Amino acid sequence: MIQFQIDNRSTESRARAGRLTTPHGVIETPIFMPVGTAGTVKAVTPEEVRDCGAQIILGNTYHLYLRPGMDVIRLFSGLHRFMNWNGPILTDSGGFQIFSLAKISKTTETGFDFQSHIDGSRHLITPENAVDIQTTLGADIIMCLDACIPYPADENQAKEALELTTRWAGRCKTAWDVIPNRQNALFGIVQGGMFPHLRQESAEELLSLDFPGYALGGLSVGEPKDLMMEIADQSLPLLPDERPKYIMGVGTPEDLVELVALGADMFDCVMPTRNARNGQLFTGSGTINITNAKYREDTGPVDPECTCAACRNYSRAYLHHLYRSRELLAYRLNTLHNLHYYLDLMQSMRKAISADVFARFKATFYATRTPSGGDE
Ligand SMILES: [Zn+2]
Repeated sequence: MIQFQIDNRSTESRARAGRLTTPHGVIETPIFMPVGTAGTVKAVTPEEVRDCGAQIILGNTYHLYLRPGMDVIRLFSGLHRFMNWNGPILTDSGGFQIFSLAKISKTTETGFDFQSHIDGSRHLITPENAVDIQTTLGADIIMCLDACIPYPADENQAKEALELTTRWAGRCKTAWDVIPNRQNALFGIVQGGMFPHLRQESAEELLSLDFPGYALGGLSVGEPKDLMMEIADQSLPLLPDERPKYIMGVGTPEDLVELVALGADMFDCVMPTRNARNGQLFTGSGTINITNAKYREDTGPVDPECTCAACRNYSRAYLHHLYRSRELLAYRLNTLHNLHYYLDLMQSMRKAISADVFARFKATFYATRTPSGGDE
């Protein structure tokens, strides 16, 4: 199980600094979770991920279930030993990936009937086996199976999906309640699209099931930024103050700063790792594209303020050369830097909350990090 304790609160915003104790260690919140889709944070080793400051990583149930498959995971008594990461792990339920990746997927009351995007094989994921698979993976935090909707979706679509999500959450909770010697914690996922009253309905129904933690799903799916912030602003206070609040699949550094201010504790996103592999690097002064010709003869580090292995030892010119030459090391060094940037940002926010200077932190963050800052 997990324990969540809030150490400090910002008096200028809803930001809070907490500690989440899991079977595999303590996580200091607010926290960013690097995404290790298929049992690896792409391009780097788990040891390097830890050196970047990661305290917890995310694994994708859909991918791991299809490949390598649970028979292999069982040989290692779970994902921790299989991938050699001994820190906390959170797994998603697979719902979002089935929704976005599976070849054909049919949603019924029972669950998702889908065809693997890898080999076309047929599978059925139900709320019960989503809990079972995540428990076999050995994740510290597991997620309820939820029904996703496209953006934009009309109110009826959003309402139907949220009601199914609630019924599935009840079935997940029942399945989780009877796991023998259970170690993991099950989080509920608030849905309801971009409709505040549906978000409220979803939150109220999930609260009655009393989950150890709660997430907001269905955000950052293509909606305008203002709308995402509006929904988060309205939904976060509906969740119990003493439980961890997780926003799924978000976001840019700016998103993280805004959402921490609104009271969110946990985040995951492919952005730092995926963008790294596209040559996009986050820095204190803005985001830069290392492929840009202006870095060809730039002897300085990516970010002079950064203490990551890439910035300590290599120049922009070298990273530019590696990327232009499609050298594999480019992906590794870029990923190390971006992960370090994200994790360092979370740590800086935690410090600012603890010292109750979050407003000042935010002002400095925006003053130095201009959207075009890096490449201008
Ligand atoms: Zn760096």
